[in-house]
Amino acid sequence: NEITSVVSTHVLETPDFPSEGVLFRDFTPLFCDGSAFARVVDLIAEQVTAKGGVDLVAGIEARGFLLCAAIGYKLGAGVVPIRKAGKLPAPTVTESYALEYAEATIEIGPHAVNKGDRVLLVDDVLATGGTMVAAATLMRKLGAEVVDSWVLLEIEALGGAKAMQAADLTFNTAMT
Ligand code: 5GP
Repeated sequence: NEITSVVSTHVLETPDFPSEGVLFRDFTPLFCDGSAFARVVDLIAEQVTAKGGVDLVAGIEARGFLLCAAIGYKLGAGVVPIRKAGKLPAPTVTESYALEYAEATIEIGPHAVNKGDRVLLVDDVLATGGTMVAAATLMRKLGAEVVDSWVLLEIEALGGAKAMQAADLTFNTAMT
């Protein structure tokens, strides 16, 4: 389909980054192509609207920020940055998890989300799913409802789909 063809023709693959044996996918070519980026944002927003829309779009640092700002604007929804640890002043709500290469903590400010908000999570890549599940846990701690999520790429071999399902989360991906 269209979103798959646009995204898959705008990705840069670098072997052995950030460590030996890892194939790193970088979507800079998509973000810097104005018409391709707009088309992907429009197609994602259309599908979110068709499923009933959201109040907030939460993006995971750092490339998730680019996606969430554009998708949120298109939907007329608010935008929430989910930060890596140590970037926000206290008080924050935090969640730690294991990811592909290390242990990590993410956090958000407590006033970003209201109880009952319908939230869409977005990021560039779903690998083990650890980051996305932790982001959903943060949202749920604040009383929000995670209604769906979107990534540009799911690395199928790393088991993200299973982790998402175990956390009772749905996701959509432009490519695998
Ligand atoms: P997970 O928590 O699902 O194992 O890893 C997903 C997180 O790691 C995302 O925030 C994503 O940005 C980052 N990540 C993992 N692999 C890649 C990759 O190949 N390319 C990019 N750009 N990010 C990756």
